[in-house]
Amino acid sequence: MLTNAARRLREASLLLARWQASRGYASDSGPYDAVIIGGGPGGYVAAIKAAQHGLKTACIEKRETLGGTCLNVGCIPSKAMLNNSHIYHQIETDTKKRGIDVAGVSVNLPQMLKAKDEAVTSLTKGVALLFRQNKVDWIKGTASFITPNRIAVQLNDGGETEVEAKNVIIATGSEVSPFPGGTIEIDEEQIVSSTGALSLPKVPEKLVVIGGGVIGLELGSVWNRLGAQVTVVEFLGGIGGAGIDEEIAKQFQKSLQKQGMKFLLNTKVLSAEKKDGKVYLKTEAAKGGKEDTLEADVVLVAVGRRPYTQGLGLDKLGVELDNKGRIVIDDQFNTSVSGIKCIGDVTFGPMLAHKAEEEGIAAVEYIKTGHGHVNYHAIPSVVYTHPEVAWVGKTEQELKAAGVQYKVGKFPFAANSRAKTNVDTEGQVKFLVEKETDRILGVHIMGPNAGEMIAEGVLAVEYGASAEDIARTCHAHPTLSEAFKEGAMAAYDKPIHF
Ligand SMILES: Cc1cc2nc3c(=O)[nH]c(=O)nc-3n(C[C@H](O)[C@H](O)[C@H](O)COP(=O)(O)OP(=O)(O)OC[C@H]3O[C@@H](n4cnc5c(N)ncnc54)[C@H](O)[C@@H]3O)c2cc1C
Repeated sequence: MLTNAARRLREASLLLARWQASRGYASDSGPYDAVIIGGGPGGYVAAIKAAQHGLKTACIEKRETLGGTCLNVGCIPSKAMLNNSHIYHQIETDTKKRGIDVAGVSVNLPQMLKAKDEAVTSLTKGVALLFRQNKVDWIKGTASFITPNRIAVQLNDGGETEVEAKNVIIATGSEVSPFPGGTIEIDEEQIVSSTGALSLPKVPEKLVVIGGGVIGLELGSVWNRLGAQVTVVEFLGGIGGAGIDEEIAKQFQKSLQKQGMKFLLNTKVLSAEKKDGKVYLKTEAAKGGKEDTLEADVVLVAVGRRPYTQGLGLDKLGVELDNKGRIVIDDQFNTSVSGIKCIGDVTFGPMLAHKAEEEGIAAVEYIKTGHGHVNYHAIPSVVYTHPEVAWVGKTEQELKAAGVQYKVGKFPFAANSRAKTNVDTEGQVKFLVEKETDRILGVHIMGPNAGEMIAEGVLAVEYGASAEDIARTCHAHPTLSEAFKEGAMAAYDKPIHF
């Protein structure tokens, strides 16, 4: 039985929902051709592409801003912090030999955080503008399925509405994985996730990062540059996560160590205890045995992310999930329920923004034309530290395990003229090519601008290029990309400058 107050609240909510519907926030004039759930890089790109194809499109996003994890608490704020902390670190450590004397340098952390927030705001607003320009309806609220083509939305401003869709794309992304076994609880103050680590109010004296994957290394790097003593504890025997070439990972670790970061590999964190403003982490050797305690002012838990499907009501529809909670899809992004597709972090594959975007476009193309294309062999990965690390295709360890006959071509940045003039010579370009055909199977770069340079490697893999193709392509002088060309020359013949 509803009380009078509850009834009035419900009536007001319904009125609001109707008003919003009349403003075009929800469908009151027939079903949408496409409804996308989630406004992250997968979802918003799918929505824009669908509208560009002339489909009547809505995107349901529960955050107050568009852009998902990537723009709000992921790629964008982390890169803002990485860029600005790098500039500070470079001024602190690297200007004298360049003939620049700088005095009185200090970190203004509130301003650095503000600059990061401004980058986020301008980009998330940019997506909202693109929605308006492309006539995508943004329904601000939380979606849950009623039937495969009818979705209830709890509106952020109160009330509920319903939308009907001929096609639905789930793009609900991922969330921070909790610490395994639940022995460490994230409070986002002393024990933080990546989200908390992007907004620490002061530079911690001692930061312990649990997990030596990409996110842990990038954020560890930020706070190391800003003055924290950073220790990374990693269960595995190497850093960089899945997909990194082992040789490059070792060089990368040495480089970060030179910058002051410490690494405890093959080490397992067991528990955390908060006491007198500090956190004490119990660790042991990954294989068991040797126990230790680490003291920290702040602990960053960076042990991965997991697919996010909470509240969608998928069980009601019988949408199949795998044992990792990922939505199962076929090669055309179809879930087990007809009319519902799925893309991005919430399904298979690397949890990367550009992978989600590619899938967003391809899923819409399947809806519109019956054809789509994502080449999963040509998805680049980048670690935006300094030097950067970037790769595409197979690693040497993968080729060995698969018994593939391959050749290696390497070129160090120390032999590249532009790297020398820039006094930035750490790292190398490494090509892995099929022995018989010279076809490029993998490219691995550690060095300045590796994240931009890898695009050429991606193009090469996408087009099935040989090392000779790259080696015979003219690259401007003096550029870092000449190291890329010479790496290819080293794989198919010999480089000139090394
Ligand atoms: C610190 C950090 C740094 C990163 N750096 C990079 C990087 O440099 N490069 C890179 O490629 N990737 C990076 N990533 C990963 C990248 O952010 C993700 O791969 C990407 O955001 C996935 O996009 P998505 O669209 O699948 O999901 P998301 O971006 O997670 O978006 C999903 C959206 O769905 C919404 N949603 C969920 N459920 C509902 C619902 N029921 N109703 C309505 N809305 C809902 C969520 O609010 C969210 O906004 C980083 C991640 C982190 C955490």
